[in-house]
Amino acid sequence: MTEKCGVVGVSLAGRDAARPLYYALYALQHRGQESAGIVTHDGFQQHSHVEMGLVGDVFDEDDLDVLKGGSGIGHVRYPTAGSVNSCCAQPFSVSFKSGSLGLSHNGNLVNAEEIRDELAAAGHAFTSDGDTEVIAHDLARNLLEEDLVRAVKHTMQRIHGSYSLTISHDDTVLGVRDPQGNRPLCIGKLEDGYILASESAAIDTLDGELVRDVRPGELIVLQDEGQGFDSYQLIDHEHTAHCFFEQVYFARPDSVIDGTLVYEARRNLGRKLWEESGVETDVVMPVPDSGRAFASGYADAAGETTANGEPREAGDDGVAFAEGLMKNRYVGRTFIMPTQDERERAVRLKLNPIKSTVAGKTVTIIDDSIVRGTTSTQLVELLKDCGAEEVHMRIGAPPIVAPCYMGIDMATREELIAADKTVEEICAEINADSLAYLSTDAVAEVLTKDRQDLCLGCVTGSYPYDIDGEETDRDVTRPELGGRAIQADD
Ligand code: SF4
Repeated sequence: MTEKCGVVGVSLAGRDAARPLYYALYALQHRGQESAGIVTHDGFQQHSHVEMGLVGDVFDEDDLDVLKGGSGIGHVRYPTAGSVNSCCAQPFSVSFKSGSLGLSHNGNLVNAEEIRDELAAAGHAFTSDGDTEVIAHDLARNLLEEDLVRAVKHTMQRIHGSYSLTISHDDTVLGVRDPQGNRPLCIGKLEDGYILASESAAIDTLDGELVRDVRPGELIVLQDEGQGFDSYQLIDHEHTAHCFFEQVYFARPDSVIDGTLVYEARRNLGRKLWEESGVETDVVMPVPDSGRAFASGYADAAGETTANGEPREAGDDGVAFAEGLMKNRYVGRTFIMPTQDERERAVRLKLNPIKSTVAGKTVTIIDDSIVRGTTSTQLVELLKDCGAEEVHMRIGAPPIVAPCYMGIDMATREELIAADKTVEEICAEINADSLAYLSTDAVAEVLTKDRQDLCLGCVTGSYPYDIDGEETDRDVTRPELGGRAIQADD
């Protein structure tokens, strides 16, 4: 596993790309907080600034001033395994015989080691243990023999796994999404150019307009000086494998991903949660901020029907929505704290109940997921200490039973509380009065018509990619490596 990240790329007319890239990275900061970087090209040479840290700390005025050129790419990174050091920070950049290359990657390849071994045997020297460098070397090798579009296609035919990439080849900026579209990537129009970004919130930040999502298997080439973009559908796949956790947790609620506003998706999942497992308590409160849209949809649905599905009678308002937990905004997201010890301390630092909202009440709390169970146990204890009569927990996603191999730090099977426990056992362990999760059918119904178009690997244990030692939920096989013959019509 490597990283959970945000990527961006721009091509502009008449102004440097560095500042728009910087603002876009700010908008994507939630997707990675360990390192940030920008690579630009001024038509003659490539400029790069990549460091460990938050976007606001990595760049100052002087850094942005030296990043010359109207095109470039950017990256924020959170490493989930392997090196936590500057050699894996991105964009990865390299100069080679036919030009310079910069790469920003969101996702994780499952066959990176095989390709690395093959390239190393052919004399390629690697400077990091990340899979992004593997893509860069493979592409650089292809570019020695063929044009840009063919080179990207042939690299896509060899790599297997999850990837949304922004790439700079000299002053040309490209965007690529893996054939199953696991990670998001979209195109936006700016006043003086075009942008590729992991989430549309980055486009909004630059006063741009969302054009559309990059299609799975598609290569987008931004034209010089932001004049437009060209599209090449390089690989087709019968089904997509969009990560459903992007909609549930990772993405900003104000982003539109694969045609759906994330906030609305979460509200609709909350409504389903009420339909499937509503409980008549005095109040329902979100675990801030991730549970807020779920709780809002849940409370709305609870105002219309009873927990048994009957229409409410006049004067019966259902379950009141309340903000009963206050968040200290200066503490990071516990889900992405690197060690268990840090996570446990962070929960106590992070949330404080409002006693008057909770004391003497029956309470439902709503969160998007339970990973290790640490946060949920502490939350239930906090609310009961504040005088809650009952604490019921509802989760806007199915139980996480298996790890993620597509670039999300989901913990190992041993660490996942639901990997070997039933819902009843988890309920007892977190000491809640009741616990219910949303079903996978409900997730599929809300997010897409066909569950085969979603990745549900971490909640089913069956994956949309060919991963060593794991089951697949569709017909996928790793590409065969080795020498490839380039056909005339390739
Ligand atoms: S395994 Fe889970 S977190 Fe990973 S890509 Fe699939 S749905 Fe997303």
